[in-house]
Amino acid sequence: MDCLFCKIVRGDIPVKKVYEDDRVLAFEDLNPQAPVHILVIPKKHISTSLDVTAQDNETIGLMLQAANLIAREKGVAEKGFRLVINCNSDAGQTVFHIHLHMLAGRKMQWPPG
Ligand code: AMP
Ligand code: ZN
Repeated sequence: MDCLFCKIVRGDIPVKKVYEDDRVLAFEDLNPQAPVHILVIPKKHISTSLDVTAQDNETIGLMLQAANLIAREKGVAEKGFRLVINCNSDAGQTVFHIHLHMLAGRKMQWPPG
């Protein structure tokens, strides 16, 4: 499939991996928006948050657990971190393979931009 993140899953495009299991991959964002900016993705292609079905419940849960593990490993769990899934154009989604942004290491603003 001609999808950037599927290519990353296949190893066709190099990334700095921070976590991997049989369902989930996490790697450093190329254009970090915070001192810690990790993308957590399912290995299975799911285009957007709207495409998640009951079949994906376990995978989505594993993505959250991977984000928590990374937060603890990076030492930011206590201070806090932000998890974001952008869906479609108003939210600014640019890569149409669902991904969880894990952002940490600075005070976050609310409301978000
Ligand atoms: P979104 O705008 O929510 O779709 O997020 C896409 C994210 O993917 C952006 O934060 C990009 O910086 C990131 N990104 C795009 N290409 C790569 C890549 N080759 N390696 C790592 N991160 C990437
Ligand atoms: Zn994909």
